Amino acid sequence: MFQKIKGTQDFLDLSLWQFITKTSAEYLNLHNFNQIKLPAIESVDLFKRSVGLETDIVNKEMFVVEQRTGSSEQICLKPEATASTMRAFLENGIQNLPWKVFSFDTLFRYERPQKGRYREFNQCNIETIGTESISQDVALISMLDGLFSTKLKINNYALVLNFLGCQNDRLNFREVLTNFLQASPNICETCQKRSTTNPLRIFDCKSESCQSIYQNAPKIINHLCESCGQEWQQLQNHLELLGVSFAIKPELVRGLDYYNKTVFEFTSSHLGSQSSFCGGGRYELATQLGSKTAVPAIGAAFGIERILLILEQIQDKLLLSQKPALTVVIPLNPEQNILALLVAQNLAQHNLAHDIILDDTSSVKSKMRKANKLGPIYCVLIGQQEQESNSVTLKNMVTSEEQLIKQIDLVSTLKNH
Ligand code: AMP
Repeated sequence: MFQKIKGTQDFLDLSLWQFITKTSAEYLNLHNFNQIKLPAIESVDLFKRSVGLETDIVNKEMFVVEQRTGSSEQICLKPEATASTMRAFLENGIQNLPWKVFSFDTLFRYERPQKGRYREFNQCNIETIGTESISQDVALISMLDGLFSTKLKINNYALVLNFLGCQNDRLNFREVLTNFLQASPNICETCQKRSTTNPLRIFDCKSESCQSIYQNAPKIINHLCESCGQEWQQLQNHLELLGVSFAIKPELVRGLDYYNKTVFEFTSSHLGSQSSFCGGGRYELATQLGSKTAVPAIGAAFGIERILLILEQIQDKLLLSQKPALTVVIPLNPEQNILALLVAQNLAQHNLAHDIILDDTSSVKSKMRKANKLGPIYCVLIGQQEQESNSVTLKNMVTSEEQLIKQIDLVSTLKNH
């Protein structure tokens, strides 16, 4: 017997999944975001240039695809969607700005699997590309807050915010942080390495002792230039005015290198250690991907599996779409199979949900038992007698009442019940 690959999952009931994706897509369309679809494979270089060489995603977690000999380009299964969206934006020469898009993506990261963390997972990725206004950050964050609270009915979540400043701010802060790290000899080996290559990444460290040292680390929000300081203030004021609650988390840097200015995460206490279910921020990726001009953008992604974990606990309170009433067609003998198939075809043409018991060796009793397990409201029985009189026996499975009706009247009878 084969088993699924480590870190992957089988989903055998998609009702909650579809509630999440359908509700989100409708809500995003309402805010004039258009759905796009991106390839599952991209060039490895795309992520090296964008996500960053010192990040876990690029350093340790890429699923690189073995290529045919002779091909020089390295390709991988997509580990995240922002770089791909930006690649698509540049490659397709999009002119109408801002480009407001979203996509549902299956992503791959070679992580240590645990609850809420898988090697294959799914995200809804949302981007507003080609806009500098800090009000777009406010718009995106408050839109997400509305989606989670009023549409997906997630309760007890928190929004945490930080502001990473502009490139200059980060260059200046790098020096301040490096000085602090040099005076902190007890940090782990990875952090020591990062303190020279990419010091901001130290805040991602999972070691508790490092994290307790970083409680006293300098905070980037205290080292912003005047214009970034104003934007940071405006972001907070406007979120407050829109009634969006948040907390400031100075050590939030997010695991990817391309962010500047606003970064945020939505977290839930229902998720255990993998508490973040949505993350995002402002970024400039175009120049890193070869564009001559900078293209400011803001985006976010939420994990479908993590939202599933939250909603599974309150599933009963959600208005999940009900399955349509089912009619089961039962030919009593193999000779009536073709007539039963014609009847089923007619039900399909009239959008009536149905199934058909095509089981030549079973007795009528066992066919009825099988039909019953499908949970139908009606069964349509077709034996020799029905066949000869152009009729069917319609059995109400709730009351057990049976009625002989003309085949031609079946659809209207079912529709009127
Ligand atoms: P990121 O792309 O790392 O910014 O993550 C954005 C969101 O994707 C997170 O908040 C999670 O909901 C989800 N996510 C990220 N990595 C994983 C993973 N390995 N397994 C499941 N969900 C994930």
